Amino acid sequence: MASTTRTYPVRGMHCASCVRTIETALGKVPGVTKASVNLAAEKAQVTFDAAHTSPAQLAKATEDVGYHLDVTEPSAPDTPHAAPSHPAMGEPGHDHAAMLREMEGKDMQRKVWTGIVLSAVIVLGSYPQFFPFLPAALADGYVLLLLTLPVQFWVGSSFYAGLKLLVKHRQADMNTLVAVGTLAAFGYSLAATVAPQWFTSGGLKAELYYDTSAVIVTLVLLGRYLEAKARKKANEAIRKLLGLQVKIAHRVVDGREEDVPIDAVRVGDLLRVRPGEKIPVDGIVTEGASSLDESLVTGESLPVDKAVGDRVIGTTVNQTGTLVLKADKVGADTVLSQIVRMVEQAQASKAPIQRLADAVSAIFVPIVFGIAALTFLVWFFFGPQPALTFALLNTVGVLIIACPCAMGLATPIAVIVGTGKGAQMGVLIKDAAALEGARKLTAVAFDKTGTITTGKPVVTDVIGQRAEVLRIAGSAERHSEHPLARAIVVAAEADKIALAEPADFAAVTGAGVRATIDGASVLVGTRKLMRDNGVRDAGWDEKLAAFEAQGKTSILVARGGEVIGAVAIADTVKETSREAVARLKAMGLRVIMLTGDHERVAAHIAGQVGITEFRAQVLPEDKVGVIKELQAQGLRVGMAGDGINDAPALAQADVGFAMGTGTDVAMDAGDVTLMRGDLRALADAIDLSRATIRNAKQNLLWAFGYNVVLIPIAAGVLYPVNGMLLNPILAGAAMAFSSLSVVLNALRLKRWHPGRRQPRS
Ligand code: ADP
Ligand code: MG
Repeated sequence: MASTTRTYPVRGMHCASCVRTIETALGKVPGVTKASVNLAAEKAQVTFDAAHTSPAQLAKATEDVGYHLDVTEPSAPDTPHAAPSHPAMGEPGHDHAAMLREMEGKDMQRKVWTGIVLSAVIVLGSYPQFFPFLPAALADGYVLLLLTLPVQFWVGSSFYAGLKLLVKHRQADMNTLVAVGTLAAFGYSLAATVAPQWFTSGGLKAELYYDTSAVIVTLVLLGRYLEAKARKKANEAIRKLLGLQVKIAHRVVDGREEDVPIDAVRVGDLLRVRPGEKIPVDGIVTEGASSLDESLVTGESLPVDKAVGDRVIGTTVNQTGTLVLKADKVGADTVLSQIVRMVEQAQASKAPIQRLADAVSAIFVPIVFGIAALTFLVWFFFGPQPALTFALLNTVGVLIIACPCAMGLATPIAVIVGTGKGAQMGVLIKDAAALEGARKLTAVAFDKTGTITTGKPVVTDVIGQRAEVLRIAGSAERHSEHPLARAIVVAAEADKIALAEPADFAAVTGAGVRATIDGASVLVGTRKLMRDNGVRDAGWDEKLAAFEAQGKTSILVARGGEVIGAVAIADTVKETSREAVARLKAMGLRVIMLTGDHERVAAHIAGQVGITEFRAQVLPEDKVGVIKELQAQGLRVGMAGDGINDAPALAQADVGFAMGTGTDVAMDAGDVTLMRGDLRALADAIDLSRATIRNAKQNLLWAFGYNVVLIPIAAGVLYPVNGMLLNPILAGAAMAFSSLSVVLNALRLKRWHPGRRQPRS
């Protein structure tokens, strides 16, 4: 069975129980194996077997329960790799769903204003004793009925989907609560208007509650309208990225320049970029030199120098010189498109802590109906006179106050703002689970080379006959990818030494290389590599100690079974590493360095950046073991590495942080990609996760607390104690306020800066 996963925009959702309703409806469609709906992102992710069902059927099932699934245009492909074959998907710039949302917003705005004006008149007319100067006709039941009708049925039209749901599917959501609640108030008033004798003959006053129903409908809609506006703001971070794309590129063909729309640029095209212009697509510099502002992608504001052969990223800003670049990634393959897609996916993912809220809200609405029914019965049979009035008002109050929307929004909205904020800082978070995991870390381990150091080592000393040692070592290392090998080759070339072509080259991971040069067998690497191959290294340890004490990696060079010399290589520590380590420690994390290098080098580098705990001479494959060992001690371990041979350790860690080079989204290797190859970004990422989850928890607490406290008050439990009741109108206002306050609280994260508050919540 070939199943596909697609993400579609969903419209018309208002609360956590909407999420459940749609998930259930989609789940029932034959061929669907998984459906996951995100309220804040307004997306549904559906896994289905295309042989058994079609997107149209999915749309129909959703329509049936009162929502709209836009299947004409999946908003995001579900694996980054699937992108190129679906040009329409994830194609930045065009957002059909956004356009529809906008139209809906306009419609909502009209309804809200109509509701406000009519409700104001209805309230004035409902209290003639306070407003004696108004014409008496306004207080007439029939006039009030006429004014209320459009509010109840046009302004409030979106709520009736909830009734359809109740009747057709025996399910209920927030719409059901509002529809039933306001209809109860409206129906009661209608009866009191057309047949007051029913009430007066029973000794009751024929009271009117048109104001209650009209004001509640208006308030709830107003709350939704404001909330939708705020939610849009939460999504802004990612939309902003899309808006920054270049529209026109200057293509160079046969020495002539022509302006072409960005969509027409193909891989291999030569493009000219002048100072002040943005780089149109990802590519490699073929002419010129300049410095670029890459802050959009890396979060780092210092300009980066670029020359022939360097990679440049689309949408970053060319500052000083004119460049010609050869396009190598266009359309959906560019780094920017990948970032946008990844952030969208992260935003649509569900945080583990949201599961509780989802589970609660799933059973919430039926329970609320139970409580409402109980409220009615208790007040009607045991309450004071007029029993029917009290029973009615309190029941309406319970139904109105109980909306679980704030609960459904609590964590997704925080995740959206948090991941968007992360993208702006050059911290790409894979999903909400990674965000939550990062908060819980108690230790971080990192690789030395390329993580703490720049990973651009330079040969500083050669021991033995310089030219010969460099020639042998350089020839053996020619085909090695290791940064140390590159340093040796560069040093040999600088000395204008002609290198030989090695025969039987083999890299020994974490130890060095083996090769045959001019018929003699050559080894370049650690002392252990020598001993393992029967080469005597007596005396060398002392000779190398002095270099190693300065933090220089020292490598032996052997030919024909004998050590002929050594090379000392220094790798500069990144300026920012020390500050980052200090910050991580201040955040209460245990910091451990892992390296394949010698003990003495490790000690020196660790000392330079303020790390007290390190493991040296760890083979790449043993890094996994060290992570496991730390985990066995009960630590939650984050691992930061450059991903080259750290992938297994990154995967083993509770959260793996891949140090990006800024040019590719190394998401496969880790849970978080730090686009800025700078350890401060690691501290930022952990800090951000703490702030985001703290924010989500505040939201959850607020949302739950509000319902837990106000439902009993609305039911009237305090009435026997102090006569307190919750007016249904106040209930409507409180409900509108609760989800709005959750969204506003999440928006506070936008102004958050790393390092401002340290404690773990
Ligand atoms: P790290 O943990 O610092 O990234 P590696 O695990 O890649 O380092 O390598 C560990 C040690 O093995 C290096 O410090 C070096 O002594 C030796 N080594 C690895 N690869 C090579 C190579 N190509 N040439 C010489 N020495 C090497
Ligand atoms: Mg390494």
